[in-house]
Amino acid sequence: MPQFNEPSPLEVKILTKRFQLPNSASIDTYLATDGYKAFLKAREMTPEQIVEEVKVSTLRGRGGAGFPTGMKWSFVPRNSPKPKYVICNADEGEPGTCKDRLLMEFDPHQLIEGMMIAGLAVDAHKGYIYIRGEYRYLIEIMDKAIAEAYARGWLGKNIQGTGFDFDCYTHTGAGSYECGEETALLESLEGKRGVPRLKPPFPAVSGAFQSPTILNNVETYAAVPAIIRDGGAAFAALGTPKNGGTRLFCLSGHLNKPGVYELPMGFNLLRMINEVGGGVRNGKKLKAVIPGGSSCPVLRADECDIPMDYDSLAKAKSMAGSGGVIILDEDTCMVRAAMRLMKFYQHESCGWCVPCREGTTWLKKILVRFHDGRGERQDIDMIGELSKSILGRTFCPLGDAAAMPTIAFVEKFRDEFEAHLNGKCPYGQH
Ligand code: SF4
Repeated sequence: MPQFNEPSPLEVKILTKRFQLPNSASIDTYLATDGYKAFLKAREMTPEQIVEEVKVSTLRGRGGAGFPTGMKWSFVPRNSPKPKYVICNADEGEPGTCKDRLLMEFDPHQLIEGMMIAGLAVDAHKGYIYIRGEYRYLIEIMDKAIAEAYARGWLGKNIQGTGFDFDCYTHTGAGSYECGEETALLESLEGKRGVPRLKPPFPAVSGAFQSPTILNNVETYAAVPAIIRDGGAAFAALGTPKNGGTRLFCLSGHLNKPGVYELPMGFNLLRMINEVGGGVRNGKKLKAVIPGGSSCPVLRADECDIPMDYDSLAKAKSMAGSGGVIILDEDTCMVRAAMRLMKFYQHESCGWCVPCREGTTWLKKILVRFHDGRGERQDIDMIGELSKSILGRTFCPLGDAAAMPTIAFVEKFRDEFEAHLNGKCPYGQH
């Protein structure tokens, strides 16, 4: 079972404030530290006021796309006669990302409360937490927390005498990265093969069981109690304009102190590496950073003096993604890094559409051959061209997720690809 890393004094602990407490996952700890107060406060508000508070917070979806959460909630049709659902995407599969599991392991009631408030906002009375197959041990933790909440009257009928009913269930995936895509997740939740649906309609209008559905990831829901309790403006003020709040950054790779750290949105990436993560390990120089999980285009070391928020990273032609910050030192072979990532995407492609299924297969073949020292000069352009022919032409974002980082690897580290043309890896990483 993972242990939480030592905290950094630079952290701003909003979502992780209970992580260091004894029995942090228990309902007693939660209730003793303001737990479920936000739900009671939200119960006194109208659904419109709840949505407005979330809009004011400028909370953006922490799963990858960064869509404004309040706006997403406002798309749920209020007058629909169908039941509505609150779905939590706990299928955290993006390489480099490992914080949702900590939020579930160390503070499961915060997630449950966030989902209950989402239920109040859209008049939904059922919530499902879709947990990735590899996180099976978390099912027990979440189920125990759900059972505690039922036993204490914080789930079920007429919660705490407020007249509001809400049921919550866990559901396990089977280990498919693709099921992190929201509509593939819904298919899987309904017991079908996890392949994406055509959009529109979007889940807000027709999601789980063809009904209006709010679908957010664990960290997004976990931020909601603090937003309601302390106010959206206070949450927004922690970050940068349009990028409110804190974020759990997962620092991994060639770093002295890898771990998950809660920092304000917009925290400078170089400071994150040096002051929070203890600098590049073994005194090596920084070569590059993948700033938001493996789907995000790599940044060269000279591009890393940048605020870590959605807009700043988009301006730098990368993405904030899922918060997985992968540090690569000067000894890293970037051709090998590109090859390893493509092996992952090719393996995880669901095969539904041709550009992704065939494109990732060919890219993997070429990158493996190239890295083995059997590449030819024209392969370098072919890797870039093939990636561009996938971009924007696939049924779901997995195709883009495979193509975008590959294009960046070739464009920013072409010299390393050329250095492999003499038949061997210059870093000796065959
Ligand atoms: Fe499946 Fe890839 Fe097409 Fe997505 S892009 S539907 S993962 S084949």
